[in-house]
Amino acid sequence: MAATPVTAADLRPLDLFDDLDDAALAEWAVVAEWLTAEPGEVVIPGDAPARGLWCLLAGTLQTFVRDGERLEPLGHQDAPTWIGAVPTLTETPITARMVALTAVRLALIPAAEFRRLALAHPPVHRRIMRQVRPVVARFAAIEQNHERLAALGTMAAGLAHELNNPASAARRAAADLAEALEVIGATIREFVAAGIEREDAARIADLREQALRQCAKRNALSALDATDAEDEMLDRLDALEVPDAWRLAEPLAAAGLDAEWLEQLEGLAGPATPAALRSVAASLSAQRLVNDLRESTERMSSLIGAVKAYAYMDRGGVVEADIHEGLETTLKVLAHKVKHTEIEIQRDYERTLPAITIYGSELNQVWTNLIDNAIEALGQSGTLTIRTRRDGECIRVDIADTGPGIAPEVQPHLFEPFFTTKDVGRGTGLGLDTARRIVVERHGGSLTFETSEHGTTFHVWLRFHPSAPARLENHP
Ligand code: ADP
Repeated sequence: MAATPVTAADLRPLDLFDDLDDAALAEWAVVAEWLTAEPGEVVIPGDAPARGLWCLLAGTLQTFVRDGERLEPLGHQDAPTWIGAVPTLTETPITARMVALTAVRLALIPAAEFRRLALAHPPVHRRIMRQVRPVVARFAAIEQNHERLAALGTMAAGLAHELNNPASAARRAAADLAEALEVIGATIREFVAAGIEREDAARIADLREQALRQCAKRNALSALDATDAEDEMLDRLDALEVPDAWRLAEPLAAAGLDAEWLEQLEGLAGPATPAALRSVAASLSAQRLVNDLRESTERMSSLIGAVKAYAYMDRGGVVEADIHEGLETTLKVLAHKVKHTEIEIQRDYERTLPAITIYGSELNQVWTNLIDNAIEALGQSGTLTIRTRRDGECIRVDIADTGPGIAPEVQPHLFEPFFTTKDVGRGTGLGLDTARRIVVERHGGSLTFETSEHGTTFHVWLRFHPSAPARLENHP
């Protein structure tokens, strides 16, 4: 068998060659080589450069794909069929491993010859592309899911980071609060033991309330004033022979309590003065801790609110919304990306714009991708401007950065899926493709850009009334 040359008649059963006449097909046959394999023999090892186009003319091959260490069976290839066209054309490795299930006979058209012939015979090229299209579409859909997951991952990481601080602050405050409550409880016993009269106890309670009110009204003292006030308080407490005076001086001084207040308290509490002071100091701490708790939990709620708003979780698919809502929640969700940079964010909003009917959470993906790209382009410093304007029947949103601009050779490919200039693992190249689909296909709007060495602006036009005919001719 090996000695007989491959003929056009041998290759004829393959649909790939249906549009070629015998003379054209002979050009393919002349460069082809026979290959045979017995059941169990590896025909294509996988994860290796494609040797060319394998024309399977008799028998069945079993396909395996590698899943980590494991080879997973993926199906059969039955003759007549062809294998390896795309990896050969794109000069990428063929990932699948193919093993003969029965005795097989193949004609191999070596890589260089195949590339030459596929270009020389457009009907063959067309057939390959036709087969590739649904595969690419499926691949693109999978990648788009990756992109969505990657965006979600970025958001989740940022959110976890942002939630961490208020969550630890709240946890600390809760623990300290428990301690303060214990101190307050213990001092009540000491009051009872010291035999303080009811009337005096009531006046001590008034002094405590006065301290709390006064503390709530005070702004933070400047650091220097605070130290002076604390030193004075410490001297007074020492003079009263209050144990652990250093512990109490700070909260009492911060509340702005003076010599007069202290004298009044001492007059009422007598030997229980240290206990009374501890109780007031603990109450002051408790008040501050409650404020800390409120602030931390409010911060957490606002972050969760941002995520809910970002996903328009409360409102379903199509929403009637103020365009600024989505822009603002997106900025909030991306805040961690600019936090440690000198990037300045400018909002130039036309606040009077009416609500618009949109796919809210999808549009947020557009803002995310455009703002994310702008932040990436800016690096550590520069200005990101978000502008909104009424523009005839449309709302125009500009996302502008003062970054280095987009190189002329990059510009024609910008909206192509998988096109990226970012390092592997950083960019998927789907951000702008996804943004374009959502704006153009879902909303009937348009997405364009202007760029120079001074920066880049992406323009998004969205129509107020999506059912009305598009009036976008004036726009580039
Ligand atoms: P990705 O961000 O994953 O690379 P995109 O489709 O969002 O994919 O962007 C494609 C490419 O367009 C980017 O890799 C980058 O080179 C370029 N690009 C997009 N936006 C900007 C911008 N504002 N400034 C400079 N280059 C940009």
